[in-house]
Amino acid sequence: QAKEHGRNTYSFYTPTLTIAANERLELDARLRRALTNDEFVLHYQPQFDSMTGMLIGCEALLRWHSPEDGLVPPDRFIPLAEETGLIVPLGDWVLQTACAQHKRWLDSGLPDMVVAVNLSARQLQQHDLAERVAAILDNTGLPADRLKLELTESMIMLEGDRAIERLLALKALGLKLSIDDFGTGYSSLAYLKRFPIDELKIDRGFVRDIPHDRNDMEIAATIIAMARNLNLRVMAEGVETHQQMEFLTRQGCHGCQGYLLGHPLTAEEFLEQLLRRD
Ligand code: C2E
Ligand code: MG
Ligand code: MG
Ligand code: MG
Repeated sequence: QAKEHGRNTYSFYTPTLTIAANERLELDARLRRALTNDEFVLHYQPQFDSMTGMLIGCEALLRWHSPEDGLVPPDRFIPLAEETGLIVPLGDWVLQTACAQHKRWLDSGLPDMVVAVNLSARQLQQHDLAERVAAILDNTGLPADRLKLELTESMIMLEGDRAIERLLALKALGLKLSIDDFGTGYSSLAYLKRFPIDELKIDRGFVRDIPHDRNDMEIAATIIAMARNLNLRVMAEGVETHQQMEFLTRQGCHGCQGYLLGHPLTAEEFLEQLLRRD
């Protein structure tokens, strides 16, 4: 957005936008400092097999431990980091940290889990994305099949044919690809057969009003049926009630993630609450 306003010099000089621009500059500076000062942390939210109830993985979710503002959620800083490009080094940090953490869990004999990491559009635009991911897998020693990358439909559509190449290069490493927030993006279903995708993640927006909203129930059931027919895995996010969990499981949803089953936790809490079997 900064660039759009910048081109339009008339609106750029209106007082409110000048204030916004200053705030953005300041936030950008603080975010850059946060990366060098190691103020970012990952929380891990568990994912479970719907049928067996077994822990099958976790999603790494970024937070900023700001000295001034405390724990800042990603929605408050990722959009700006995307605009400025800081998301590229920050995304590398996320991947590196999640893979290293997962490798430590794996080495201590903990269960078969896959760690899911969110990618941003800017990262998918990097021509050397697959090389960067390969380097991180290499230096952490995490087997590629323990890593899942979450992308959105809109990201993939924006990149067009280049996205196919990049996703094929990522797939060639042996990792898994998941479509996050499925059903909310600007996309065509045609990409599902062209892209090397392993999983669809039903957006929280379709889960939230189950079992009160018939339309959401139909949409969720249809996504599950379609995923299964295409031989894809399907995971629901934002599962908050037993009724939602039961409905999704009955429809054949493979995995569930949400507050009902577990909130995002620090690595220490995750180990304490989910991994330690005494
Ligand atoms: P997402 O990838 O769709 O992640 C799911 C979000 O839903 C997380 O919010 C999670 O805390 C929240 N959530 C999980 N279960 C429930 C539930 O039962 N109810 C409700 N109401 N919410 C639930 P969070 O951590 O604030 O992350 C928001 C978004 O920020 C993520 O959405 C993702 O798009 C982005 N994000 C987070 N970490 C990263 C990252 O490392 N890199 C990039 N590029 N984006 C990230
Ligand atoms: Mg996600
Ligand atoms: Mg999601
Ligand atoms: Mg989401």
